[in-house]
Amino acid sequence: MKVGILQFGRVAPEVLAGIAKGLAKTFPDTSASIITEVLPVPQAAFDKKRNQYSSSMILGEVRAYAGMQNEFQRVLGVVDVDIYAAGLNYVFGEAYTPGNAALISLWRLKPEFYGDRADLAVYVLRALKEAVHELGHTLGLQHCTRSSCVMHFSNSIFDTDKKQSLFCDQCYLQATIAIGNVG
Ligand SMILES: [Zn+2]
Ligand SMILES: [Zn+2]
Repeated sequence: MKVGILQFGRVAPEVLAGIAKGLAKTFPDTSASIITEVLPVPQAAFDKKRNQYSSSMILGEVRAYAGMQNEFQRVLGVVDVDIYAAGLNYVFGEAYTPGNAALISLWRLKPEFYGDRADLAVYVLRALKEAVHELGHTLGLQHCTRSSCVMHFSNSIFDTDKKQSLFCDQCYLQATIAIGNVG
C-alpha cells in the first residue's frame, strides 16, 4: 500500500517525517511519503461559533485529492487546527471506513496543549497512533475492544497515550488481508 501524506496549512515537518517512517514500519507492505504540494486549510470548514473546523469537510477535500491522482492508494490529510465532528466536542481524526482518505489533526496532540512541557517524541508518537488508527479505518477496520490496540477508540489524550501504535494480532491480520486486496 502506498500512502501519501497531504498537508493542509503549516504542519511541523518533523512530525510528518515521524508519521511517514512509522506508517511504513507499522503496516505490512506499505510505503509512505510526504506530498510536496501543500493545500490551504479550507476556510469554508471553519465554524465561527465553535472556533473549530469541520473534520468531515476537510476529509472531503482529502478524498477529492485522493480521487485526482493514482500514485497513492490512500491519502492521509494532516492539519494543525482544531477539528470537530457532529455530536463531538472535538476529534483527533476521521476516515472513510472503508475508503481511500483519512484525516488527523495535530492540534490536541501537542503536550503543550495540556500544559505539559514540549516533547517531540511524545508528540510524534501520538500523531503516529492517530494516523495508524485512521488509516486502519480506511482498510475497513472497526474499533477494537482491546485498550492497548491502536484501533481502540480515543475519547481523550489519556486513551491515546494508553494504547500502542501497533495493531493487536486480530487487527493486524485484518489489515494484512485488506492491504493484500489493495495491491
Ligand atoms: Zn476510530
Ligand atoms: Zn485490535
